[in-house]
Amino acid sequence: MKDSKKIKVIIILGPPGSGKGTQAGLLAERFDFFHFETSEIIEKKFENIKRGDFVRVDGERYFLWKEREIRNSGKWMSPPLISFWVKSKIKQLARERKGIILSGSPKTLYEARQMVPLLKNLFGISNVIAILIKQELKTSIWRNKHRKICELMRHPILYSKENAKLRNCPIDGSKLIQREDSNPEVVKSKFLEYKERIMPIITYFKKQGIKTREVNGGQAVIGVLKDILKAIK
Ligand SMILES: [Zn+2]
Repeated sequence: MKDSKKIKVIIILGPPGSGKGTQAGLLAERFDFFHFETSEIIEKKFENIKRGDFVRVDGERYFLWKEREIRNSGKWMSPPLISFWVKSKIKQLARERKGIILSGSPKTLYEARQMVPLLKNLFGISNVIAILIKQELKTSIWRNKHRKICELMRHPILYSKENAKLRNCPIDGSKLIQREDSNPEVVKSKFLEYKERIMPIITYFKKQGIKTREVNGGQAVIGVLKDILKAIK
């Protein structure tokens, strides 16, 4: 179904555990867009790394081992490195003429400033919309504690009565595992940093002419999805 009119880029923002990834996955399927999950891209880059491996961005060296340690402790990795990976992928998708659903990016004003001019160039600013999922800290902690992800395809499994005892992915059968970043202290620290960083990003988006809509994340998955569909119409 490709009925999204002209919207080509949907940016889903929200605190940890707000279901950004789930919503983005559903929207990607509905519109046949690419689900751009920054955390997945980052985790792929960290596979099989060795001490001493680095990536050079604008003459600066970023050591992957150290970046992974920062990330696993719940702090924020170096913005230029994330931005570099994100921009390369966006350019590739634009060449393939794919629509994009971003979840979990941009995380910083720096990243937004790197990304928005690129999106403007490649897609046109009127084809970009940002959706802000609102959620409280205690909901974030609870949801992160209960959510799992499948080993093979990283399908997110949100907690519900029906799937509380699920051990394997209902789609591909692979084992369900806890995400590395589901520790409550890590979630809290990420939530507080998110709160601090999101406002300047939204302000910047609005200044750049990006439509920005808020939805209530305290509902079931289907309720949030319906609100998002209404917002992008
Ligand atoms: Zn799966």
